[in-house]
Amino acid sequence: MNCPNCNNPITPEVSYCPKCGRAFQNPSSENILLQKNRLVYILLGIFLGCWGVHNFYAGYIKRAVIQLLLSVLLCWTFIVPAIVFIWVIIDICTVDRDANGNIMVM
Ligand SMILES: [Zn+2]
Repeated sequence: MNCPNCNNPITPEVSYCPKCGRAFQNPSSENILLQKNRLVYILLGIFLGCWGVHNFYAGYIKRAVIQLLLSVLLCWTFIVPAIVFIWVIIDICTVDRDANGNIMVM
């Protein structure tokens, strides 16, 4: 197992990286209930992404509100929804952590 932040090898029992200090969740802890699922993020992005729902789910509230407002207020422009759509595709391809920096598991 390696630190997701700096790739420093770590032992499974530690809850933070000794090199960079990054805290991470032990999958066996009770925090698993709070852990976001990347598959849910991707599905929300595909079906509801133009309203930013996937980013609300992951905790990226500012980004989600911008996508929601762009889609709702500028849907008649056609070009803006197309840009938001591309933005959502980039989101679901590149975002693998929630807003707290926790890896979203599949
Ligand atoms: Zn680290």
